Amino acid sequence: MNLLDARTVILMSTLMGGAMCVVLFSVWRSFPSEIGGVKQWALGLFCLVCAACCYGVRDALPDPLAPLAASALLLWGIGMSMIGTEKFYGLAPSWRLFHALWCVGMAGMGWLLLARASFGALIAVFSLLVLVFYVRQTMLIARHGERHLSSYFFGALMLTQSVVVLTRGAMATSGALDGVNLLKHSGYQSLFLAAGNFMSLLLTVGFMAVATRRLQTILEQRSTLDPLTSVLNRRGFADIYVKERAQMRRAGRVMTLLSIDLDFFKKINDVHGHASGDRMLMHVADIIGKALRESDHVARFGGEEFIVLLPQSGSDIAHAVAERIQFSLRAPCADGLTPCTVSIGLASQLDCDEELDGLLMRADAALYRAKENGRNRIEFAPADAAQPSRSAAA
Ligand code: GH3
Ligand code: MG
Ligand code: MG
Repeated sequence: MNLLDARTVILMSTLMGGAMCVVLFSVWRSFPSEIGGVKQWALGLFCLVCAACCYGVRDALPDPLAPLAASALLLWGIGMSMIGTEKFYGLAPSWRLFHALWCVGMAGMGWLLLARASFGALIAVFSLLVLVFYVRQTMLIARHGERHLSSYFFGALMLTQSVVVLTRGAMATSGALDGVNLLKHSGYQSLFLAAGNFMSLLLTVGFMAVATRRLQTILEQRSTLDPLTSVLNRRGFADIYVKERAQMRRAGRVMTLLSIDLDFFKKINDVHGHASGDRMLMHVADIIGKALRESDHVARFGGEEFIVLLPQSGSDIAHAVAERIQFSLRAPCADGLTPCTVSIGLASQLDCDEELDGLLMRADAALYRAKENGRNRIEFAPADAAQPSRSAAA
């Protein structure tokens, strides 16, 4: 039995394509909407499966109808995957290119089929048209793909497919495929058919690899970021802290933590409403972010308390940063929010073995003192119990 028999190849790839379609449609329904293009890939693959079905029933249809419908579906499906890839990378879909190639392709293929042109001529036209869709996607992946195995895999598959299609088009143009019948076995044609069908499936697997990688990134971000202000949450901050402490151990430089709490925030909620309170929290997160260097970190530990970590910074730098934050918050806000004040507790970490909980407790103790001493103040935590504390009014 010839395993590369054209009908066997088409049947196997159609069954696998149908199963993959179900996977893609279920992914489209369950993945977050930020992951674009899944629907187009699912629809595209569905068209390819339908195209294969057309070949299956070609004997039951009047002569050029089955190959014409199959070509229309194939061209539409492959074009749809290009639209999907564009959407996946957040780009505007090239609908004009898609429609133009589809119309030109259908006119050309229709004319060739009616004129009973050779199989080679049909393959030449079809290959050169879909080559545009594949080359465009290869370029998109090279340009916008993440530096990750999933993108390398997807890009390599798309490049391979482009080369296969180019080779097929070139062979057809040179007349090497003349006299070949699509459903009669020949070495070249079975090879191209197998490559074409299985590459469509492999490309779908490649797309699934990058989509799954995107999902992983989104979920990681969601689990480490505060949804209201988009700064780190407690968990994200704890991860960063461990890395910074390891760096501190290597470099031997002190780092300082700021515990920042809005003064009388409950009143803002009570007077202006909870939504205004939320906007105020976003504004404060924004102001704090702007006062920091790129290497610094800010987190929201629930409620109206923010934590800032300043690597390679002693209390003098930290005090300057704290003052900058207080100064910026006093300025009138453009979006109708009333200016607010914050109390800040500072604690420098000198001992690499001190844990985050201990550092936070010292900063919170300093913050508590700032509240007790009248709010809108900056207080320093002593490095240990023996050291006297410093304080400064804003
Ligand atoms: P103090 O100066 O002593 O810090 O007074 P305060 O009013 O800021 O502190 P308190 O702890 O009494 O009130 C904190 C308020 O923060 C109570 C709670 O309703 C509000 N809050 C906590 N989380 C959120 C949030 O996500 N959004 C809004 N709008 N309010 C929040
Ligand atoms: Mg408060
Ligand atoms: Mg509080």
